[in-house]
Amino acid sequence: MAKKHPEFNKIEEDYPTVKQFEFTMYFYDASRKAAPVSRTYKEKPRQQNYYKHPLECIYRECEGGGYDIADAVQHMVDNHLHKMRGERICQGTLKRRNSPPTPCNSHLEFILKTQYHDDNEPDAQDTPDATS
Ligand SMILES: [Zn+2]
Repeated sequence: MAKKHPEFNKIEEDYPTVKQFEFTMYFYDASRKAAPVSRTYKEKPRQQNYYKHPLECIYRECEGGGYDIADAVQHMVDNHLHKMRGERICQGTLKRRNSPPTPCNSHLEFILKTQYHDDNEPDAQDTPDATS
């Protein structure tokens, strides 16, 4: 694969069949006790693409961490899926002041929704109107 500046790739260059990605993400700390932080991104052509480069860890003190969902996106597009869920665990190290380094292990749960250019009708998504 050619290496470009990932921030400036367009969706149609990477995934010509995709009209839009929508990512909903829930971030949890390692204990999973705290309420998750959620974010939703909608990706259209010419916007930054979170689907290509790893997402940063929620913790600023985390070194070498992040969540890589590129393989999940690739799998979704390859199989023409419209919705999938996944989870990633941060492999970074927390280096907080006055405490020894500890594994980060924060969790990302994500829901990816994809619209394709050939999705003309909203109800065509998971129920193909086949009469076989
Ligand atoms: Zn982390």
